[in-house]
Amino acid sequence: MTSHAAHKPSGGGHRRSVALFGGTFDPVHAGHIAVAQAAQRRFHLDAIHFIPSSRPPHKPQQELAPFMHRYAMVALGCAGHPGFLPSLAEAPAATPHVFYSIDTVRRFRRDHPDDHLYFIVGADQFLELPTWRNYEALLDSCDFIIASRPGFRLDALRLVIPPEKLGRSAGQDGQKIVLRKSAVHLLTTVSSHVSSTEVRERRARKQTIHGLVPALVEEYIVGQALYR
Ligand code: ATP
Repeated sequence: MTSHAAHKPSGGGHRRSVALFGGTFDPVHAGHIAVAQAAQRRFHLDAIHFIPSSRPPHKPQQELAPFMHRYAMVALGCAGHPGFLPSLAEAPAATPHVFYSIDTVRRFRRDHPDDHLYFIVGADQFLELPTWRNYEALLDSCDFIIASRPGFRLDALRLVIPPEKLGRSAGQDGQKIVLRKSAVHLLTTVSSHVSSTEVRERRARKQTIHGLVPALVEEYIVGQALYR
């Protein structure tokens, strides 16, 4: 599932900082990698688990490329980035199963109780948070890193957070919203227009996707004739 390093015990007094980055990754693209790199730098992350979802609850109608391809592309996209790890945490199960982020986070928390856990999400997805299962518990369960995305106003993000969750200081230094049990960090150093939709649409129109996805992912998409 992940490399040996991902399961290294947190010995020697260093508390590991680990982020979960979920998505459909259909396909993983340059925007995802830029977000992960910016988060890794700013929060000194030891590991970022890229978690392709098998059946995203919020995109039930969308035709997705098979999990196998999306996972393979995530693995290729992680190549050359120490600390980026493809994860099978939401791989299809033998029986049909919808994965909810709250369960995935709780599982990681249980397996790595000493880690500082972050959840990376784009601004568009964070605005949808109230529709996620058990989102109030999710907000309590780990810190959030919200990546800015062109077209989404970061000041709107506060409105998604129930007022009773705000910490006493209600401190907002522009980059961080303090909650009672966790914190929401705004990652404003990255702004990529790339989306998976654009990659798929360009492929359907027989246009190049060069530069929109990592080189190995481009090779894979072309080689497997995906999104045609
Ligand atoms: P689609 O176009 O198919 O809806 P997407 O490009 O939004 O896909 P996802 O796999 O749904 O990609 O995204 C996974 C996570 O990455 C989500 O939290 C999403 O908000 C975030 N994300 C995707 N693209 C960007 C981007 N360009 N900048 C910041 N965050 C992004």
